[in-house]
Amino acid sequence: MLLGVRGSTPAPGPDHVRYGGHTSCVAVIPIGGAVPTLLMDAGTGIRRLPDLLGPEPFHGSILLSHLHWDHVEGLPFCRAVDRDDSRVDLHVPEQDGVSARDLLARTMSPPSFPIVPEGLLGSWRFLPAPDGTASVEGFEVTAVDISHKGGRTLGYRVASSTSSFAYLPDHAPSRGMTQAARDLIEGVDVLLHDAQFLESERRLADDYGHATVEESITLAEKAGVGRLVLFHHSPVRTDNQLDRLLDLLDSTVPVVVAREGMRIPVGSAGDQQA
Ligand SMILES: [Zn+2]
Ligand SMILES: [Zn+2]
Repeated sequence: MLLGVRGSTPAPGPDHVRYGGHTSCVAVIPIGGAVPTLLMDAGTGIRRLPDLLGPEPFHGSILLSHLHWDHVEGLPFCRAVDRDDSRVDLHVPEQDGVSARDLLARTMSPPSFPIVPEGLLGSWRFLPAPDGTASVEGFEVTAVDISHKGGRTLGYRVASSTSSFAYLPDHAPSRGMTQAARDLIEGVDVLLHDAQFLESERRLADDYGHATVEESITLAEKAGVGRLVLFHHSPVRTDNQLDRLLDLLDSTVPVVVAREGMRIPVGSAGDQQA
C-alpha cells in the first residue's frame, strides 16, 4: 500500500487531500500475508503504518533508497516501529566509509533532533543496504546505484517467486543510466518511479536531479513493465493537476497516478502488494 507519495516535503492543505501530502513510504505485503513485512523508505507516510497493523508492532525491514529528509523523516514518528516490542532492520545506502548507524545519526542526533538512533524503542539493527542481490524478509531484493543528486541513491527491485516490482522514487535518467539500472526495471510487473516534474519544467528537473512524467513513461515503455505508477509528486502539484496528469499523455503501458492509501496488486496472481 502506498503510505506516502509526495516528494521533497510534506504537503498538507485543502489542495492535497485526495492524493495525500505525506512523503515517500510504501508498505509491501507478502504472498498470503495479512500485514506488511517490508517498507520502502520512511518518509512521513510511515505514520500511516498503524492503519495496516492495527495495535500490533511492525516486525520487518525498511529499505532506504537514500538519506534525503523526505525519505527518513517519518522514522521517529511512527508508533508501530517506535515501541518496545517492534523489530526493525533498517537498510541504509552506505557511503563515504561511514556506517549505516552513523549516516542516520547525521540528521538524527542533537542539535538537529532530540534523540540518536539508539533512542528508538524496540529492537533495531542499522545495516548496509544489499550489495547486489540479497534475501530480505523472504523477498529477493536487488539494489543498484542510480543517478539523483546529493549523495548515494539506490533503486530497488523486489521479487517473489512469481512477481516483481521496482522502486525508484528519486531518479534523474537525464544524468545517465547504467545497464544495471536498466536491467533493474526490465520487465517488472510494477514500476514505481519518480514523476516529480513535467517536461515543461525540465530546468527544475535537471537542477533537482529528478525525472519528468514523460521520461518515466518512456522508461516504462522501453523496459516493458506491466504497469507504471507515477510516484514522488511535487509538493506544489494539486489534486486537480494530478487528476489531469494523464489526459495529455499517451502511453503504451498502463499508468496510474500514485495516491496515498492506494493498494497495488503485483503480478497476475496479485500475490504481493506494494
Ligand atoms: Zn525524495
Ligand atoms: Zn532525494
